[in-house]
Amino acid sequence: MKAGDIVTCPHCGERTVVKLGKKFSGWQVCGEVLTCALCSAELGTPEKAKSDSSARDKLAALLGGDETEHVSLAPGEEYRRGCRNCAHRLEHPFKMLCGLTRSEVEPMHVCPEFRDREEKGK
Ligand SMILES: [Zn+2]
Repeated sequence: MKAGDIVTCPHCGERTVVKLGKKFSGWQVCGEVLTCALCSAELGTPEKAKSDSSARDKLAALLGGDETEHVSLAPGEEYRRGCRNCAHRLEHPFKMLCGLTRSEVEPMHVCPEFRDREEKGK
């Protein structure tokens, strides 16, 4: 899914145009998010630009190298950087709070202020 696509919104059930919006963590922009033009519900995150990956594939083919290992590392790294593993996370029995923004965060949310909480302890 990408901005400008016509989809049926799972939230309002209407045929809608996908809009690209900014994702906020407190007052900071921390990424891009696709939203429904009608009800503004989140529809997911933008796909990686296709031209980018095909260019990389071509380059890999040219060099005769195997990019697979490099590419497969990326999602794991992203996963690690969730607020769940962040040193700024505050312990709370019912919700996840960020010590920087003092607001609730998603466990899998990835933000630019991420600090590895395991590194802090060592
Ligand atoms: Zn909608």
